[in-house]
Amino acid sequence: MRPIYLADLSWPDVEEYLTRDDRLLLVTGATEQHGRHLPVGTDNIIPFTLAERLSTRTGIPIAPVMNYGASEAHMAFPGTFSLSTETLQAVYLDLIQSSYRQGWRRLFIMNGHGGNIAAWSWAATVATKVKKDLKLYLSHWWTEARVRDFMREAVGRNEGHAGLEETAMMMAARPYLVRLNEAQGHADISEDIWTHSAEEVRQLIPLGAIGENPAQATTDLGEQLVEHLVREYEALIQGPW
Ligand SMILES: [Zn+2]
Repeated sequence: MRPIYLADLSWPDVEEYLTRDDRLLLVTGATEQHGRHLPVGTDNIIPFTLAERLSTRTGIPIAPVMNYGASEAHMAFPGTFSLSTETLQAVYLDLIQSSYRQGWRRLFIMNGHGGNIAAWSWAATVATKVKKDLKLYLSHWWTEARVRDFMREAVGRNEGHAGLEETAMMMAARPYLVRLNEAQGHADISEDIWTHSAEEVRQLIPLGAIGENPAQATTDLGEQLVEHLVREYEALIQGPW
């Protein structure tokens, strides 16, 4: 089997699918700097890769990726675009509501960017309050307990933006886009760096990446993380929800 991309289907194809299933994979990410070694599309590419493998195994279609997210803190680095959280809330709610009107009832949301979590939580709460038969599963891959445990076991720590996890996942997803010879991050940077202004962020982390040593990433580590996640998500999607 191959992944099913909703954008490749005709409306009769979608109508036919909706007579037998109501599940949809919805990927959201960001277009923002990811250090000197990863592309600005990293937060889209990682969840999209997970979605492609899930779709291959389950036959559930993938909706077109929402490629822009809330990335204000990264705006001093070229290649970044940012939507405000208010804009994102409206976009996410509209996506949920238009899916619902078409007959989708179970949305598996695969978000690749931390800055989007607040908007997703708001939109999901508002939508499910009104539509009682709507089921949303919000997944933010790097927050999954399995990933955290796995990283601690494999390398003894978790890393952040453009760090070891993302670098390894990208090596599994698009190895030709990873510049391992330039993989370097700022160590001991706390997560509240993202509350600083864009200009301050660029001064505090001029490389753009955080994490002790993203250059330790390997394709093997990335593959293991991807497979762990896909197996876990597949069980959730195929189970009752
Ligand atoms: Zn990222």
